Amino acid sequence: MSAKLLEGKPLAEGLKGSLKSEIEILKNKYSAAPSLSVIQLGDNPASSVYVNQQKKCADSLGIGYNIHKLSVDTKKEELFSLLDKLNNDKDVSGIIVQLPLPAHIDHKELILKIHPAKDVEGLHPENLGRLILGKPILTPCTALAAVELIKSTGVDLYGKEVVVVGHSEIVGKPVGLLLLNEFATITICHIGTSQKGCLKDHVKYADILIVAVGKAGLIKGDLIKEGAIVIDVGINKVENKIVGDVEFETASNVASYITPVPGGVGPLTVVMLMKNTLTAFKLQREICANQA
Ligand code: NAD
Repeated sequence: MSAKLLEGKPLAEGLKGSLKSEIEILKNKYSAAPSLSVIQLGDNPASSVYVNQQKKCADSLGIGYNIHKLSVDTKKEELFSLLDKLNNDKDVSGIIVQLPLPAHIDHKELILKIHPAKDVEGLHPENLGRLILGKPILTPCTALAAVELIKSTGVDLYGKEVVVVGHSEIVGKPVGLLLLNEFATITICHIGTSQKGCLKDHVKYADILIVAVGKAGLIKGDLIKEGAIVIDVGINKVENKIVGDVEFETASNVASYITPVPGGVGPLTVVMLMKNTLTAFKLQREICANQA
């Protein structure tokens, strides 16, 4: 292996240190602390693991954490009325609804029901619109984590060829926009690119390659440009092991930097959620001050 490992934990610990100090100052100033409300429908095991990680991280930072566990059969109206209640509760800084959702709840409809100033996942059209305008406030956490890892290498993003594989709203599209705002040249690939047989033609140009698909070993080392920075967002369970979308053994022989899975993007994503909760807390106080 010649690539340097881009681990998320050291960056996450550094960020947690600065968030903790800022939260202490804000607690003294406002006599209140940021607080995150999480809604989970049903009992998906992967989602429960993520919820536990969030709670641990929130507790360690002094951020309040409230979980609302609802049955998988909860009616849409009941869920939306809980969202209304949380939107109007001044003690709630951020709201997230854990995925996966049951089939009768439409994710895009649900996102519109969360107040944009409490949308700590950054998925409300107001927040995604701000990202397009280059004025983001709340941005999807995994995309923020991927960019933080890239920046930690010290790379100059200006004019770099970035290839993103995966075009979801939570990762692929926002990470592309964040890096476009830094004047990198962005190509976003997806299933259509693969089905046309063009994926390798794009991937081979990447100075920075970000893969967020959910298919173990989709990208092998022979597709990757020598010296590329590789960010593997994928999480896949293969024979009881967690692996990414990039074939680590072959990719790490050609990349200059590569994220491990697990231990790369994941640990930083949860801290970015806490950072967004703190941002939301400050934003809501600014809105209140302007209304006074
Ligand atoms: P998604 O399922 O919403 O979208 C998958 C994307 O991959 C789509 O754009 C699709 O067109 C593309 N795709 C599918 N097959 C392809 C192929 N053969 N070639 C090229 N593109 C293909 O994905 P998501 O929600 O962004 O999640 C992607 C992966 O990232 C998953 O493994 C998920 O578990 C992981 N994830 C990790 C974190 C983290 O914190 N580490 C956070 C979110 C998601």
